[in-house]
Amino acid sequence: MISRRNLLFGAAFSSCGCCLALDSSEAWPGSSCRDSAELQSNGSSAGCLLAEDKREDVLSKIKFSLLDKDIRTIAIFARIQSIMEHLYEVKPDFEFYDDSDGPNAYATPERVTGGCDTSGAVIFGENLLLSEKNTSDMWGSAITLIMGHEYGHISQYKIGSIFPAAVQKELHADYLGGWALGRINRADLSHNLIQVLDVGTAAISIFKKGSYDYNNKGFHGTPEQRKQAVLEGYKSGFSGMSVNAAFNTGRQVLGLP
Ligand SMILES: [Zn+2]
Repeated sequence: MISRRNLLFGAAFSSCGCCLALDSSEAWPGSSCRDSAELQSNGSSAGCLLAEDKREDVLSKIKFSLLDKDIRTIAIFARIQSIMEHLYEVKPDFEFYDDSDGPNAYATPERVTGGCDTSGAVIFGENLLLSEKNTSDMWGSAITLIMGHEYGHISQYKIGSIFPAAVQKELHADYLGGWALGRINRADLSHNLIQVLDVGTAAISIFKKGSYDYNNKGFHGTPEQRKQAVLEGYKSGFSGMSVNAAFNTGRQVLGLP
């Protein structure tokens, strides 16, 4: 019998010949039409981090070579990235960065490398990846949720959605992350390659990233709020809701117009 873990790993591993061609993962295959690796960082503070933290130096820490050379990890990550682009209908730049000062991920409405379009950028912490891998055998589920959260921010930027405070923006992104997991598990994707994700593992991961720091203007929500947003979003995705419908329903769930 194939375990859930093997199904996830096997599916992703076998589906990503483009990644296998990468030479020692010297560059992340985020964009096939990238014309420059020159950073365009200007110290923007417009983006969103997965967890409350300092943000001003993220763009200066982008890495073009991962310490983790595990081919399965690279294949899984590339597959998740591809699915997120499909689900959200966006194609932001994607890079890793050195988050050795604390595991985190980042989304910004600005391009940071010479990518294909103007959907902004998702920047994933290498330390965050390692920490999720060390937490659970089902780490792919947590990574998928985190990617869904960050790509949810890209959708917010694309639509120009307004939120009264950071906490609503973050919980909305959590909702969309749950929605993405639900859509994948519903297995109605045209490139249906990752079929089984564990929403419980993913929800626990996001639960641990909540806080009770209400007075922090970057407050992202309590552990309970973040977990609940993911589970609500998951139901919408598993029901087959479209990204636009989920976007609006997520706002309504948070009491927003
Ligand atoms: Zn966020």
